[in-house]
Amino acid sequence: MTRYFCHEQPDTLVLETRVVNARPGAVLLERSPFHPGGGGQLADRGVLRWSGGEVTVAGIEAAPEGFWHLLADPVELAGAVETVVDPAFRSMMAQLHTDTHILNALVFRDFSGALVTGAQLNADGTARMDFDLPEADNERLRALEGEINDVIRQDLPVRYAYVTEAEALGERGLVRNRSVAPPPAADGTIRIVEIVGLDRQACGGTHLASTRGSRPLRILKIDNKGRHNRRVKIGLAD
Ligand SMILES: [Zn+2]
Repeated sequence: MTRYFCHEQPDTLVLETRVVNARPGAVLLERSPFHPGGGGQLADRGVLRWSGGEVTVAGIEAAPEGFWHLLADPVELAGAVETVVDPAFRSMMAQLHTDTHILNALVFRDFSGALVTGAQLNADGTARMDFDLPEADNERLRALEGEINDVIRQDLPVRYAYVTEAEALGERGLVRNRSVAPPPAADGTIRIVEIVGLDRQACGGTHLASTRGSRPLRILKIDNKGRHNRRVKIGLAD
């Protein structure tokens, strides 16, 4: 897991930086406030501005040399640019992402340490989480909606820490995803996200500063996906 600028400075959405490599319609930047996506989270949206205009960032592509920002027009940029993350989209991703941690913490607690088998956040304010839950009663899962919203109202703070890979693997439940353990950063550490009093887990995404920043959450649907997997679809209330 690379340490992103947005991990260190999540509130900085506008940043002056420089183009370090370019091809028509794509740039590699010295620094970027954009989250590149991953682990079910979508990449930030936004624009790049330079002396000659503004272009939409259409996507982010990971490469060995860094993250290419893919542009909506085939412009070839150089020198100083201003990067601007779309605040509404970032906020929605952070709300959904924090809420998936709340759901996932309550499922882990109430269903014998059930692990996540997949997650996807969507641009329309919904998300799905798949759990390894062969025996679960869907009505018990649905009933978590009230408690999720209680946690949101309690305004629990969200904090970060970095632990060694050995520590992460040694603490039960810290690596919550059955298939994807986040890779360690260059210095061998793994980023831990803590919702204070509720949950600690390894994650590289963007989250709220505290849970009350989320709109209320609805459990929209629960599907059985195969013998083991239960798919829970959630959505932010309007
Ligand atoms: Zn997360």
